[in-house]
Amino acid sequence: MIRLSSLTLVAALLAAPAFAAPATDPYYKAGEAALARNLAITPNTGRAKNVILFLGDGMGISTITAGRIFEGQSRGVDGESSSLSFEKLPWTALSKTYSHDTQVTDSAAGITAITTGVKTRNKVIGLTGAAQPEQCATEAANRVETIAEIAKAHGLSAGAVTTTRITHATPAGVYAHTAYRDWEGDTDMPLEATQAGCKDIARQLIEAPANLRLDVAMGGGRSRFLPDAAGGKRGDGRDLTAEWRKASGAAYVTTADQLAALDPARTGPVLGLFANEHLPYEVERPILGEGVPTLAQMTTKAIDLLNKNPKGYFLLVEGGKIDMGSHLNNAKRTLTETAEFSKAIQAALDKVDLKDTLIIVTADHSHGLVISGYASRNAPILGLAGNEGEPIVAGDGKPYSVLSFATGPGGPEGQNLRADPAKEDMDDVDYHQQALANLPSAAHSGEDVGVFADGPGAWLVHGVVEESYIFQVMRHAFGFDADKR
Ligand SMILES: [Zn+2]
Repeated sequence: MIRLSSLTLVAALLAAPAFAAPATDPYYKAGEAALARNLAITPNTGRAKNVILFLGDGMGISTITAGRIFEGQSRGVDGESSSLSFEKLPWTALSKTYSHDTQVTDSAAGITAITTGVKTRNKVIGLTGAAQPEQCATEAANRVETIAEIAKAHGLSAGAVTTTRITHATPAGVYAHTAYRDWEGDTDMPLEATQAGCKDIARQLIEAPANLRLDVAMGGGRSRFLPDAAGGKRGDGRDLTAEWRKASGAAYVTTADQLAALDPARTGPVLGLFANEHLPYEVERPILGEGVPTLAQMTTKAIDLLNKNPKGYFLLVEGGKIDMGSHLNNAKRTLTETAEFSKAIQAALDKVDLKDTLIIVTADHSHGLVISGYASRNAPILGLAGNEGEPIVAGDGKPYSVLSFATGPGGPEGQNLRADPAKEDMDDVDYHQQALANLPSAAHSGEDVGVFADGPGAWLVHGVVEESYIFQVMRHAFGFDADKR
C-alpha cells in the first residue's frame, strides 16, 4: 500500500489541473434534465383499463438507432440526438426472443410468446411448444388463450391493426391458433389439413365465437376473405366479408375515406381490408397508396371504436413492414416504416390517458442491420461509412455503407466480388445494403430487442426479461391475475 504524507497530498492537490466548468455543456445540461425527469417518475401500480401493444416487426435496437437518425435527418434536425416517439417512454427492458425450438425466432413464435406467455416452435401460432409445425392433428390439444381472448372473456373489447395482411403471423397471434402460419386462406392449406378440421386463419378471424371475436381488425389481405369471382383467392367460394357484416352493426371498409366516415358511436365491429395483400410500403404511397390509410389513421380510429366499451380494450398495432424492408436488405424501406410506426405511437399517446392505459412498444425479433464505421456527425445515415469525413476503404479497395447487414474480415476481398457503393445511388428507394451471405431474403437475428412502456403496470417492464414475460405484464396490468395483485 502506498502511503502519502499529508505534505505530499497537499502538493499533489495544488498541482492538480483545473477542470472546465461543465454546467454550460449541452450534453451535461441534457443529462441533468434527464435526471430530473427520472427523479420525478413514480410507478403507476394501478389497474389498466386499456392495453395497447405496439409491435415493430423485426425492429431491433440497431433499427431503432438508425430509425431515429433517419427520422431526425428527414426533419432537418440533428438525427443522432433526436428520439422516436416511444424512446421517451420511461420504463424499458431487454427481451430475450429465442423460440421454443430455435435460437432465432420467427414472427409466429415471437407473437405467440407475447400474446400468450408461452414459447412455441417457429411457424406455430397460439399453440404450446408441444404442437408441431404443419401438423394439423397437434392443434386441438395445444391451444393457449391469447391476451385478446382473455380480455374479451372479461367483457372488454379487442382489436388488431397492421400494415401486413390481417392474416399474417403477427396479427394472427391475437386471434388465431394454427400449426402453420402460412395457412392464411383455404387455398394455402393442404387438403388433408382442411379435411382433418383445421381452419385457415381468415376463417378463424370471422368464425370466432361471438363473445371472443375481434371488434376491430384492420390491415391488408382481402384475397384471403374473398372468392375467386370477387378477385380473391378462396377456393371454397365463400365471401367472408359478407359473413362479417352479419353481426349487428358490423361494418366492412376498404378505403381510407370509408374508414374516416365511420361514426364510432353508431358502428359495431369493423373489418377494414385496404389491399389484396400487404399494404404498400410508405415509400410506395405516391404510386400504390391511393385510398390506403396510414398506420396512424388506423390506430386512432381503432382507439375511437374500441373506446366505446366502458370496460376497456386490448389493441395490437403492428408496424409489419419494418421487417419486410429488412428482409430485402433495403434500409430505406426499413427506416421509413420505422418512422411511420413511431408516428402511429405518437398519435396514440396524444389520444389516450396514460393514467388508465398501458402502452407497450416492442419487437418480436431483430434483423441483422449493422451501423458501423465512423461517419461524421450528421452524415447521411444512408451514406458511406467514414473516418473524419473520409470514406473508410475496405480490403477490396472500396468504401462501404454506414448501414450494412454484415461487415468484417470474412467479407469478400477480390476486386469484382463486391460492388462499389460509392458508385451507386445509396439513397435510392430500391438500394440493397450489402450483405456477407447472399440469400434471397435476409435472415432475422437473435439478439435481444427493446421493450418500452408507460401507464399502469409499465414499471414492471425493467431488466432483462423473456419475451413471454410481456404477456404477464399485460395480464397483471388488466388485473386478470387477481390472486397476484
Ligand atoms: Zn420476418
